[in-house]
Amino acid sequence: MQLYNTMTRRKEEFVPLTPGKAGIYACGITAYDLSHIGHARSAVVFDVLVRYLRYRGLEVTFVRNFTDVDDKIIARANREGKTCEDIAQTYIDAFHEDMDKLNVLRPDIEPRATAYIGEMQEMIRSLIDQGHAYAVEGGDVYFRVRSFKEYGKLSGRDVDELRAGARIAVGEAKEDPLDFALWKAAKPGEPYWESPWGKGRPGWHLECSAMSRKNLCLPLDIHGGGQDLVFPHHENEIAQSEAATGKEFARFWMHNGFVQINSEKMSKSLNNFKTIRDILEHCQPETLRYFLLSKQYRGPIDFSFDVLDDNEKGLKRIYETLRDAELALSRPKWKPGGIAPAWTEEFDSLRKGFFAAMDDDLNTAGALGCVFGTVRLVNRLLEDKAEKSKEGCRDLLGSFLDLARAWAGILGVFCQPPQQFLLELREVRAKRRGIDVAKIGELMDERVRARAAKDYAAADLVRSRLAEMGVEVRDTPGGAVWDIT
Ligand SMILES: [Zn+2]
Repeated sequence: MQLYNTMTRRKEEFVPLTPGKAGIYACGITAYDLSHIGHARSAVVFDVLVRYLRYRGLEVTFVRNFTDVDDKIIARANREGKTCEDIAQTYIDAFHEDMDKLNVLRPDIEPRATAYIGEMQEMIRSLIDQGHAYAVEGGDVYFRVRSFKEYGKLSGRDVDELRAGARIAVGEAKEDPLDFALWKAAKPGEPYWESPWGKGRPGWHLECSAMSRKNLCLPLDIHGGGQDLVFPHHENEIAQSEAATGKEFARFWMHNGFVQINSEKMSKSLNNFKTIRDILEHCQPETLRYFLLSKQYRGPIDFSFDVLDDNEKGLKRIYETLRDAELALSRPKWKPGGIAPAWTEEFDSLRKGFFAAMDDDLNTAGALGCVFGTVRLVNRLLEDKAEKSKEGCRDLLGSFLDLARAWAGILGVFCQPPQQFLLELREVRAKRRGIDVAKIGELMDERVRARAAKDYAAADLVRSRLAEMGVEVRDTPGGAVWDIT
């Protein structure tokens, strides 16, 4: 499998250091607010990575942290008259709730920064001992960037240029404007821990270095996060970890691209932040997950409700095909004999195409293209009068359902029983359009009564009233069914 490595700026064959096992670390959220769609993208991307590596037989240990002490958490706690623990716990719970809805598997380990203060202090002490860090009067401790010769290697930034643009803020006693805080002296009203450098709290970058080292073997097989973390966060993690241990920190660096909203960057100033909860007011969680996988993870993805509605149609089509294939398989008798070889050949090439796309730097867009190719193939087969009753068709439908289950396990979409998803979708669409589902039920009953009384004019009238509401009626062997058009 090829993965793009931000460090080397090219795709490379991913082979874990220990055969059969992979240790993956991804940077998690700072728990001070509800998570937005950018957090959802990162979580879904690394969830699919982990699921796919497991599907390929690797024993994966996946670690994703929570930052539970930070300026923003402290500010919110003070504003709301709560403790930092309360604020962090509230938003960690909210994150878990959102992730469960999006079918994101819980990582194996979810360390919280405040549980690793001892490890962080040990690391600071080791960095000071080796000349890579220094404490200043007042109790701050800084990493000495110029002591780490390879600083800038991940982001491709030049230290001299960075230095030219950097300034030392008033009150900071740094040796060099590029130096960054490992330990921050406590200000009044802030939570703090005792340390050899006085009361204080850890710097943000340090926590990931300490938690990944404690929970996984170094070098990490993969370190991941959003593209916005490349600099300075990941650059600083590398500097701290490699300076402390003298060893390579991570072998592969994977970064997912941004989510844009209606082609604009998501930003506080444009006030266009979309939380996961905002979007789940509009659609089923699975539709949001499907949207997030509809583009390869490295590029930007553009969110709009129109695009989301298109994705919903696509997902509906997949579920309808799964439902129809299951239904077709309930046929009691099949004609002996195979179907034309072209059917199976096309099916096999789509199956291979899916895995080739996933092996090509987790190209979920390409993989979903193959899912759709397969869906179209199955629909064609189900409409083919000559082929659909043959044993060969039965076998292909069986293989399709098996494959769809495997794909669902990898992508974390179309995992539900089709009928359940489709009924839920109908409710969601009715609600969105302001259509009263109880009213539809009444009209459907009225139509049944009219037809039973052979009053076809009345029955047609009901059908057109439903059509005006945006409801389509279809008569099936099992009775009339309705759907939102
Ligand atoms: Zn991190």
